Amino acid sequence: MVEMRDVHKSFGDVHVLNGVDLTVDRGEVLVIIGPSGGGKSTLLRCVNLLEPVTSGQVLLEGDEISRPGVDLDQVRRRIGMVFQQFNLFPHLSAVDNLTLAPRKLLGTPRAEAEERAHTLLARVGLAGKEKNYPRQLSGGQQQRVAIARALMMDPHVMLFDEVTSALDPELVSEVLDVMRDLARSGMTMLCVTHEMGFARELGDRLVFVDGGVIAEQGPPAELLDDPNNDRTRQFLRKVL
Ligand code: ADP
Ligand code: MG
Repeated sequence: MVEMRDVHKSFGDVHVLNGVDLTVDRGEVLVIIGPSGGGKSTLLRCVNLLEPVTSGQVLLEGDEISRPGVDLDQVRRRIGMVFQQFNLFPHLSAVDNLTLAPRKLLGTPRAEAEERAHTLLARVGLAGKEKNYPRQLSGGQQQRVAIARALMMDPHVMLFDEVTSALDPELVSEVLDVMRDLARSGMTMLCVTHEMGFARELGDRLVFVDGGVIAEQGPPAELLDDPNNDRTRQFLRKVL
């Protein structure tokens, strides 16, 4: 579904990704962990071309999307992304946050877009909140709107960048519940998270990113309980 081949990414003299090789299968839940500044967000942003790679290749469903002249809209339509800061449009209701992109980018008629928005808001547990503006919703509710919004475009892959890190602790589980539901529905997911419980329960594979490379990867339980790499061990000692 997603493949990165020897991906390097620099910002000027700062080498952030230093040769990332990664293959994610259809339906796989990949969990990415690692220290702050290690390149996790940059890795995700290179997958959906929010950042162009400096060298190497990114493939989506077998197409090389890192090639020059690729249709960015076409690519991003297949990849949904959710961020730590929910990034909702503050002046739009929940339902309008969901319908904006399909209406503007795909020309979906309003009634059809709204029907789908209602279905998706119900799926994330927000039936009845369609007319609420972001400021009238809790952080956990806003993040669930953001997930539903990403699902509106029927993405083939979902990227999650620390989507629970800005939430009050009691709101984390309602967002993880939605991610669990998505994972069980067979969605291909790349999740940067500090939620080791989530990683253990739902991750098919855990990847430790440090210094812009994949320093270690494996089944979550193996990596969490018995890491091979010293840096993985040091990191886990701090977060577990
Ligand atoms: P992580 O998500 O693991 O904390 P990031 O991918 O956000 O790491 O950042 C990795 C490194 O890349 C950091 O040193 C950060 O300062 C740098 N970096 C990220 N984005 C940019 C940018 N747009 N310009 C310059 N440096 C950046
Ligand atoms: Mg980050």
